[in-house]
Amino acid sequence: MTDRIPGFATLAIHAGAQPDPTTGARTTPIYQTTSFVFNDADHAASLFGLQAFGNIYTRIGNPTNAVLEERVAALEGGTAALAVASGHAAQVVVLQQLLKPGDEFIAARKLYGGSINQFTHAFKSFGWNVAWADPDDVETFERAVTPRTKAIFIESIANPSGSITDIEAVAAVARKAGVPLIVDNTLASPYLIRPIEHGADIVVHSLTKFLAGHGNSLGGIIVDAGTFDWSKDGKYPMLSEPRPEYHGIKLQETFGNFAFAIACRVLGLRDLGPALSPFNAFMILTGIETLPLRMQKHCENSKAIAGWLSTHPAVASVNYSGLPSSPYYNLAHKYAPKGAGAVFTFSLKGGYDAGVKLVSKLKLFSHLANVGDTRSLVIHPASTTHSQLDDASKTKAGAGPDIVRLSIGIEDKEDLMADLDQAMS
Ligand SMILES: *Cc1c(COP(=O)(O)O)cnc(C)c1O
Repeated sequence: MTDRIPGFATLAIHAGAQPDPTTGARTTPIYQTTSFVFNDADHAASLFGLQAFGNIYTRIGNPTNAVLEERVAALEGGTAALAVASGHAAQVVVLQQLLKPGDEFIAARKLYGGSINQFTHAFKSFGWNVAWADPDDVETFERAVTPRTKAIFIESIANPSGSITDIEAVAAVARKAGVPLIVDNTLASPYLIRPIEHGADIVVHSLTKFLAGHGNSLGGIIVDAGTFDWSKDGKYPMLSEPRPEYHGIKLQETFGNFAFAIACRVLGLRDLGPALSPFNAFMILTGIETLPLRMQKHCENSKAIAGWLSTHPAVASVNYSGLPSSPYYNLAHKYAPKGAGAVFTFSLKGGYDAGVKLVSKLKLFSHLANVGDTRSLVIHPASTTHSQLDDASKTKAGAGPDIVRLSIGIEDKEDLMADLDQAMS
């Protein structure tokens, strides 16, 4: 019994947590404190010098957040994780460890609209230059590699279209280029896809979506796979060179296969500051306990609704990777055999106007800019999340004018179909 490796559902409830040693509290308490008392002056000095692990100040770490970090690292099969305030904060903190001004990273063109904006505008202002590649054509990643390329960034299931990326093929390009593969696993969650098993070196999440699952808390997380050798060619000085702010220690030399998670904490989070509130960590931990059950229901409802929509007279096409008609069906079968997720798009015969009209007539579906809630959600990307893009980029991102995006919740599917039906007729 003792050497049995716990299954996913067990880890979702127990990983990282134990009854509180002083009070016996069974669920993880919310350690709502900014700071932690040192045992003595030597203890304080050793914490500040990274010679000992412990709590200093909640911007750098907090015991509630630590349980969340350990749990998501276990679910993803990584060595360590760092929780931050949002998915976008996770992306900034990761790339700050890898890129200097003038460096480049390659990103899949099919991404969450906010990530396209972040990469195009904010990151450009830091001097981090993005080169776009087509996740449906892996050679475009290979062609985009230059001597200044420092990372490759993809989504496992891409927003908004729900298409599946061939993670192993992109990982092979990253390995050949000697750069880490970063996978945004938000839409899949580790219940459906575990990117580290397919060659990802770093996994990021917007915890805001399926992991928290109830549409009530923002959060983000970075998972270190522990697979990348940061010291081999001097490309990643933050990890391989002596750090002046920590008495000259070299992070990879000192922390080995969780050096990247440490760098994100002690160089990224400490200095940039996007700390996760312990209250949000508590909410997200509670959400994760039911992740397997919720994902099963999300996927079951999505498959049924996608199939039903594809026979509806007002619908021109449905893009759900879990349907045999999808060009991603084989990739879904390989990477996400338990289900192709709950975010997908369909197009209406009536085009842009019909899309705008549909979102205004739905009653049970909420019209808003989020995904991964227990509630079913809808948005018309061309007039909202992707409206800043020009028409060609919209279509390339899977957000053309006639496209409507659904995030299917865990309500009764018959009620969801009835709502869609009344809104389309
Ligand atoms: C929402 C989302 C993000 C950004 O996360 P926030 O928590 O909103 O900052 C990044 N990637 C994907 C795929 C998302 O859906």
